[in-house]
Amino acid sequence: MTAARSLKTAEELVSAGLIEPEKLPDIRAVADRYAIALTPTMVSLIDRTDRQDPIARQFVPDPAELLTTPEERADPIGDQAHSPIKGIVHRYPDRVLLKAVHICPVYCRFCFRREMVGPQGDGTLAPEELSAALAYIREHSEIWEVILTGGDPLVLSPRRLSTIMQGLADIPHVKIVRFHTRVPVVEPDRIDVTMIAALMESGKVVYVALHANHPRELTDTARAACARLIDAGFPMVSQTVLLKGVNDDPVVLGDLMKAFVETRIKPYYLHHPDLAPGTSHFRLDIAEGQKIVSALRGNISGLCQPTYVLDIPGGHGKAVIGESAARNEGGCYSVNDFRGEEHRYPPK
Ligand SMILES: *Cc1c(COP(=O)(O)O)cnc(C)c1O
Ligand code: SF4
Repeated sequence: MTAARSLKTAEELVSAGLIEPEKLPDIRAVADRYAIALTPTMVSLIDRTDRQDPIARQFVPDPAELLTTPEERADPIGDQAHSPIKGIVHRYPDRVLLKAVHICPVYCRFCFRREMVGPQGDGTLAPEELSAALAYIREHSEIWEVILTGGDPLVLSPRRLSTIMQGLADIPHVKIVRFHTRVPVVEPDRIDVTMIAALMESGKVVYVALHANHPRELTDTARAACARLIDAGFPMVSQTVLLKGVNDDPVVLGDLMKAFVETRIKPYYLHHPDLAPGTSHFRLDIAEGQKIVSALRGNISGLCQPTYVLDIPGGHGKAVIGESAARNEGGCYSVNDFRGEEHRYPPK
């Protein structure tokens, strides 16, 4: 059964049978702090007979979110430290984030920007704030790529998207525009001819990075929405968060990566979960993550290999954290093959 509209309150989740009534007070407390939304598409994907359903775990709030551990922080990846002007994060020389909107069609329970997104979050850039952000990009000729994120930029209307794309069209040093989004999976019908036409208006090369974490998210409908984007000329890459109880298993993660490749989406990043408040129930150890990532290598196609990264807390950017493949042992290297057997290089 598909609900007609998104579920956004603790009460609606109880009525929909997604939360036991006795949890209502705790979930209300979670809702006071963090935004909730599940689109009808995501509600219909939840298997209600499975108490550990990986789709529910990503979107249905949990009392565990009320626990904030000492190492967790409101701005886990340090956006604020590198924000020269509202809506822009400029951490790396050649690219900026443009955060035009702080609304998402779904709210992920592990979101790294959970203190900034949602109806009570940082809001949408006003027209004059957007102009100022575009002026910043225009004044910095080292900016080669603009990454639209947020929030989910594809919740913007095609009209507002075309305003942004036309603004970028006028900036010659910007060659690439990248969107980070969950929309093709969580609200696939939004990807229609009008939206695609809006995305084309910059005349730039447009990439779309899809955020998805479980192979069941890549339904036929979601794959068709991605195909519309790719057929329109927008290459796609993937972005996944490694999450305990969702995809911390080489088979599940491998199936997800294969589903991306089958959809013509090149696996790009596998993120170690960030230290966002109230998310400790999703976090695993880096060593566990490295083991899962190593298990993918060799056992499934090289096309299916994501890069495992950590966003260093404090705004220091991303670091690749897969196991070092080559160990230097006294002037000679040793490497492991996909079966785990060790080999010397050069051989004796
Ligand atoms: C992650 C991130 C990027 C994009 O990094 P890529 O490695 O190019 O995908 C850009 N700016 C900021 C601030 C980021 O956090
Ligand atoms: S879609 Fe992205 S920004 Fe929005 S809640 Fe999920 S992780 Fe956060």
